[in-house]
Amino acid sequence: MNKKGLLIVISGPSGAGKGTICKELIYQQVPNLELSVSATTRNPRPGEIEGKSYFFKPKEQFVEMVNNNEFIEYATVYDNYYGTPRKYVVDKLEEGKDVILEIDVQGAMKVKKNTEGAVFVFILPPSMEELKNRITSRGTETLQDIDKRMHKAYDEVCCANNYDYVVVNDDVKSAAEKIKCILMAEKCRVNRAQIDFNSFKEV
Ligand code: 5GP
Repeated sequence: MNKKGLLIVISGPSGAGKGTICKELIYQQVPNLELSVSATTRNPRPGEIEGKSYFFKPKEQFVEMVNNNEFIEYATVYDNYYGTPRKYVVDKLEEGKDVILEIDVQGAMKVKKNTEGAVFVFILPPSMEELKNRITSRGTETLQDIDKRMHKAYDEVCCANNYDYVVVNDDVKSAAEKIKCILMAEKCRVNRAQIDFNSFKEV
């Protein structure tokens, strides 16, 4: 009987709204759901909090963590390293908690290769124009960075076929609702339902 939690990988182009959807799920206090906090070598943006937004690490320390096999996956995204710390995720799954990873497409494909039983959700923006608007209006990226992110987004959208589900983020609340439905459906899968069918005897 599998009592472990479910690993949900939420991924898609930068600016599609993955982070906002995940925050909405945590804000709604979806029962039993935890969000993994990644480590990164990029600089904190205004308002970001150490240990909550990310674990901000100098490059040497990140590389040391890589060498110590402390990440489930890591990737270079826009010239910085990003990685999912293994211990937190493994511990939570063992406790029976469901864990969300909000990571880029390269990272998601690594998790897919190395992990069994995870669920992969691709977040799509309503259009590429809207994606550009969102990235631009954040005001945190230079024009050059925006171009890089848009270029990468075109490549990433082509990977959507490798995922189990796709959710178009035209409205954060309805996108979060869809993810809750996906979670619920996945928990009803026969191989995950944690039901002892032998206890159902003829009466
Ligand atoms: P940002 O710099 O905008 O916070 O994140 C840039 C990209 O890195 C986003 O697509 C985000 O999902 C991704 N990302 C964040 N954490 C991780 C991680 O641990 N692993 C990987 N592979 N990507 C991550």
